Amino acid sequence: MSYVIPAPAVVSLPVRGSEDEFPIHRIYCVGRNYAAHAREMGHDPDREAPFFFQKNPDNLLIGGGDFPYPSQTSDLHHEMELVVALSSGGDNIAEGDALDCVFGYAAGLDMTRRDLQGAAKKAGRPWEVGKAFENSAPCSVLVPASEIGHPASGRIHLDVNGELRQDGDLNQLIWNVQESIAYLSTLFTLTAGDLIYTGTPSGVAAVVKGDNLHGEIEGIGEIDITIV
Ligand code: MN
Repeated sequence: MSYVIPAPAVVSLPVRGSEDEFPIHRIYCVGRNYAAHAREMGHDPDREAPFFFQKNPDNLLIGGGDFPYPSQTSDLHHEMELVVALSSGGDNIAEGDALDCVFGYAAGLDMTRRDLQGAAKKAGRPWEVGKAFENSAPCSVLVPASEIGHPASGRIHLDVNGELRQDGDLNQLIWNVQESIAYLSTLFTLTAGDLIYTGTPSGVAAVVKGDNLHGEIEGIGEIDITIV
């Protein structure tokens, strides 16, 4: 079998302690999953049903590094997030079984063209132009759950040029990892290779060329990018 055009490359993330990589299938992102962030975006965080959007596998900026300032925006925001990587999936996964689907965890950034996202929201249009652009998903090396378990708490924070911008704890997730997987699996068939960006704590703000972003999740990893 050959293809009429060159086949797209498989995108994969490195795995700590392994020479083998984790191939990516889909990238799901949870919106407004920390109360303080929901409030800063003008919403009431009282456990409305979770909602999701997607990025594309080739939007990943693997391991961080130089992040080219994207086109068509003048309001590029950072969102520091816990990333969950699935080793199995299915439909209608029970909360009690959801963590069995998790291969591991990473530290990620959901980079956002906030001005384009805002215009899309206002017009009732889809969010892709604000969310699913090139390099919009920086992600650290994956850490297997077989090594660290399933952290339900731990500090998550982001510094910009050495100054603290975002600071939260995984125990502040409105919809925790197992709840997010269970809910998502009622809407989509989850599969090995899926990533879930789980939402961001408060403190999102604009960055400009030259800024250095350094994010850390306690016990999981670090991500570092420089806007160029
Ligand atoms: Mn986000």
